[in-house]
Amino acid sequence: MTLLEGLEKQLREECPALELRKNEPMSKYTTFRVGGPAALMALPRGEEAHKVIETAFRCNVRPFFLGNGSNLLVSDAGYNGFVVKLSEGYNGGEVYTNELMVGGAMLLSQAANLALQNGLTGLEWAAGIPGTVGGAVTMNAGAYGGEIAQTLHQVHALGFDGRFEVLSNRECDFSYRHSALSDGARLILEAVFLLSPGDPDAIRDRMAELAAQRKAKQPLEYPSAGSTFKRPPPVDGKPVYAAELIDRCGLKGLRVGGAQVSEKHAGFIVNMGGAACADILTLMEEVRKRVLDRTGILLEPEVRTLGV
Ligand SMILES: Cc1cc2nc3c(=O)[nH]c(=O)nc-3n(C[C@H](O)[C@H](O)[C@H](O)COP(=O)(O)OP(=O)(O)OC[C@H]3O[C@@H](n4cnc5c(N)ncnc54)[C@H](O)[C@@H]3O)c2cc1C
Repeated sequence: MTLLEGLEKQLREECPALELRKNEPMSKYTTFRVGGPAALMALPRGEEAHKVIETAFRCNVRPFFLGNGSNLLVSDAGYNGFVVKLSEGYNGGEVYTNELMVGGAMLLSQAANLALQNGLTGLEWAAGIPGTVGGAVTMNAGAYGGEIAQTLHQVHALGFDGRFEVLSNRECDFSYRHSALSDGARLILEAVFLLSPGDPDAIRDRMAELAAQRKAKQPLEYPSAGSTFKRPPPVDGKPVYAAELIDRCGLKGLRVGGAQVSEKHAGFIVNMGGAACADILTLMEEVRKRVLDRTGILLEPEVRTLGV
C-alpha cells in the first residue's frame, strides 16, 4: 500500500463525512484552467481540517494547500500527492470594532467588501485580486500601493503536525510577494486584519476606481494567473517593471500553443484556449531568455508550480 493509499484509508475510517476526491482535475481549480489530476484531494469543513492535517502527518504525507488557484500552474501530468482545500466553515468573516477576522478560504474580494460594509478602510486595494485570504497571506499579495503586510494583525494556522498556531505580523516575516508561510508548512485557517474607520462612500469609490483600472489594463477576459513574473529589483535606484521589460523586448503576442503573452498587458501570460501547462512553461522560459539577452535582467516567476 502506498503512503497515499494509507492516508485515504485512514481518512475514510476516521473522518467518514469528509469530502475526499480521487484523481480530481486541477484545471477545475486554477484560474489558468490548466492542470492534470491530483491523486487525492480533501475539502475539509470546520473542525475536519484539524483531523485531516493530523492524519496526513501520521501517515507521512505532506499536503499541498490550495486556495483559489489564482497564482498556480499545475503540471499536465497532474500531482501525485495530497491536496487540501478548505471548504465551508472557512469562508465567512466577522468584525469586532476595527478588527476583521476572515476565514482562509474566503475570497480576498469578499473580505474587502466586508470591510466596506462595516465602514473600515485599509483593504480597498485588494478588491480585484481573485485569490483567497489564505493564498493572499502566503503570497503577501498586493496592488496599487497596498499589501497584506500593512494591515494583517494575526494568522491562525495549523502546523504540519496539526498543532494550532497564532502568528503575529512580525512572525509572518513579510517581504515582496513572500512570507514565512510561503514554505507551505502551515495551513492558514483565519486571518485577522486591523483596519481603520473610514467613509464608506470614499471606500466604495476607491474600490470602483481600482476595478475600472484593472478592467482597462488587464486581460481579464482570458484565463491567467495574473502577473507571471515578480517585479525585478530596482536598477540605479529606479523601479523596474517586468511588464515594461517584456513589452520593450517586443514580446507582446508571443505564443506557444494556446499560451500567449497578452497583447493588452505584457506582464500576463493568458490561456487563449486549450493551453497546456507545458505551453505556458515554455513561453515563460522564452520570455525570460529574451529579456535576459536584451536587458541583462533575469525575471523571476511569481506564479507557483505544482507537480512540475
Ligand atoms: C486576473 C488576476 C489578477 C491578479 N492580480 C494580483 C494583484 O494585483 N496582486 C497580487 O499580489 N496577486 C494578483 N494575482 C495573483 C493571485 O490572485 C494572488 O497571488 C493570490 O493571493 C493567490 O491566492 P490563491 O488563493 O488563489 O492562492 P493559490 O494560487 O491557490 O496558492 C498560492 C500559494 O498560496 C498557498 N495557499 C493558498 N491557500 C492557503 C492556505 N489556506 N494556507 C496555506 N497556504 C495556502 C498555496 O499553497 C500556494 O503556495 C492575480 C491573479 C489573477 C488571475
